[in-house]
Amino acid sequence: MIKVTENLWKIQDLLRAAAVAAGRAPESVRLLAVSKRKPVESILEAAAGGQRDFGENFAQEGVDKIDATGRDDLIWHFIGHLQSNKTRLVAERYDWVHTIDRIKIARRLSEQRPHHAGDLNVCIQVNVDDEQGKSGIRPEEVDAMASEITALPKLKLRGLMCIPAVRSGMDAQRKPFAVLRKLLESLQQQGFQVDTLSMGMSADYPAAIREGATIVRIGTLLFGERDS
Ligand SMILES: *Cc1c(COP(=O)(O)O)cnc(C)c1O
Repeated sequence: MIKVTENLWKIQDLLRAAAVAAGRAPESVRLLAVSKRKPVESILEAAAGGQRDFGENFAQEGVDKIDATGRDDLIWHFIGHLQSNKTRLVAERYDWVHTIDRIKIARRLSEQRPHHAGDLNVCIQVNVDDEQGKSGIRPEEVDAMASEITALPKLKLRGLMCIPAVRSGMDAQRKPFAVLRKLLESLQQQGFQVDTLSMGMSADYPAAIREGATIVRIGTLLFGERDS
């Protein structure tokens, strides 16, 4: 059994150190615990240790866990590829969606968000490396999509998200994150009220924090390797 609580403390220390190394306030980096393919027990253990934000890649798997935890103080982030036939589930049960890369999906989420629920927080996923066949819009499409999303009721555009190609070494890893940071800064200069850079995972979070990540999405370091 992996010791989630100990891992959580270690990661909190690592994130704090990375923020300080970047000259940033530790509170400016939020840990998103990526719990895909991990049991509810692991989520509850992290929650007992004070973790509140959890990320899931499959809509129904996440909803099953939301129900199974029986807690209403956790914040659920959808971080997988979202298909049209799953938008209702996500609009009704999640608090955030990090992976908007089609306006059609944003429209459906806007229409399907229940009236009693607050705005759904969303990020635009950007294919920063312009990789063939990968999710995310191209950097030059960001401004137009930001305008379209901002016009939709029940959605709150929070910022940008990316999953860069795998690289090793701090300098190489920072480059794609710097691209995303500049895109966010450009949106802010245009007057968009955006505050979120969702970037960095277990293997590259220090580089992401250097470039201004406000949410790092950590799975393996917290919950251990996933079965494939
Ligand atoms: C799985 C996943 C993560 C976490 O990856 P680790 O390398 O296990 O930390 C983060 N973001 C997304 C979008 C993922 O699918």
